Amino acid sequence: MRIQSNLGSTIAMALDECPPALAERSYVKPSVDRTTRWLKRCKNEMRRLNELPDTINREQLLFGINQGAIYDDIRIEHAKEISELELDGYAIGGLAVGETHEEMYRILDSTVPHLPKDKPVYLMGVGTPENILEAVSRGVDMFDCVYPSRNGRHGHAYTNSGKLNMLNKRFEKDMRPLDESCQCPACRHYSRAYIRHLLKAGEMLGMRLLVLHNLYFYNRMMEEIRSAIEEKRFSEYKKAKTEGFSKILDE
Ligand SMILES: [Zn+2]
Repeated sequence: MRIQSNLGSTIAMALDECPPALAERSYVKPSVDRTTRWLKRCKNEMRRLNELPDTINREQLLFGINQGAIYDDIRIEHAKEISELELDGYAIGGLAVGETHEEMYRILDSTVPHLPKDKPVYLMGVGTPENILEAVSRGVDMFDCVYPSRNGRHGHAYTNSGKLNMLNKRFEKDMRPLDESCQCPACRHYSRAYIRHLLKAGEMLGMRLLVLHNLYFYNRMMEEIRSAIEEKRFSEYKKAKTEGFSKILDE
């Protein structure tokens, strides 16, 4: 907690144990109890640190992390227990670690309703654009994920019609931007053919343009999601967006 306090981030995460998705129940239960004990100690330490005069960010927020692998009852019990601690926000950890998407959605369905409605809910390490839309529809507010940057480095571009593999030969003479509806600097100035050429030639700029575009794509999608929720048309937005993603299957 001292390291996080010294970093001065807006949000500090409590320490937790993230058991593997397929861990036995006999392992998960005591593990989650330990995570709860650690959370209480983190909360006390955060309070102490935020009261020190030379702390960098004395308003630093503390989020607790729900665990319980794919056992609904352990997840729910843990969610109720940590909700009583009145933290600044709540994360759901230990998902997207090898379970199926359906199992992840089922755990969100059962767990999120037991977290405080007036606090942000953060799903750790998720995910694809489809995963994000599904999780938002189940009450999740925040995400973090390596996909936009890692997949960019591997030559993949997220678009409103699905994911493109820019190493594919069919883009060799394609003078269109990565995504015709995107206003990011990569799409405004460079063609698919040029970006493919950069990747093929091993020029770092190719990866950088794809990472730039993918981060822009994710940020824009989150903006669209916020507007759709405010305007009470999220389910229509989600349906249209998801249908678009399945237009091209490029894997
Ligand atoms: Zn773009």
